[in-house]
Amino acid sequence: MTAPSALTRAILALGSNLGEREGTLASAVADLVDRPEVRLQNVSPVVTTKAVGGPEGQPDFLNMVIAVDTTLSPRELLAHCQAVELAHHRTREVRWGARTLDVDIVTYGDERSDDPVLTLPHPRAAVRAFVLYPWSLMEPNATLAGESVAALAAKAPDMEGIVHVLDVPPAVVP
Ligand code: ADP
Ligand code: MG
Repeated sequence: MTAPSALTRAILALGSNLGEREGTLASAVADLVDRPEVRLQNVSPVVTTKAVGGPEGQPDFLNMVIAVDTTLSPRELLAHCQAVELAHHRTREVRWGARTLDVDIVTYGDERSDDPVLTLPHPRAAVRAFVLYPWSLMEPNATLAGESVAALAAKAPDMEGIVHVLDVPPAVVP
């Protein structure tokens, strides 16, 4: 019998600003953990964020984060996240700037990488309130590169763009 592979804790950030946004997030979470190598450990509330830049009249973004324990390698996890994005993009309306679903790897254990294909931690996570704030609600004591996630959220430039906090979609409560 082979030894079980090590489990690594990863934080994934999900965002959607097109279509049935809440339903998209809920089904994306279900898709992300619909394999034995990825186990859902925690789910943040969903926050509503004003779309910054891009065309006028874009719908607000819904953003959330989840924590998973996984035996996938970082690259395997990225490919898996991109496959889930693609599955949802197939139903997209064509409208510049709007995103049906974006899934980013915020952290993968303590892994650090400058590789542009997979930069870890995610290079912009430390300044994005739409990642940091839901993460801090899910895990109040979380740290990112040694700094408090809640403190980073409080000083993130887009914090004032967070307009509403929704309940966790019931379908994805672990
Ligand atoms: P963004 O998420 O920055 O709005 P995309 O989702 O289109 O843009 O991702 C662009 C590229 O970012 C992907 O092809 C992927 O290879 C790369 N990338 C680098 N680091 C990460 C990460 N930590 N998580 C997800 N994608 C990443
Ligand atoms: Mg992305």
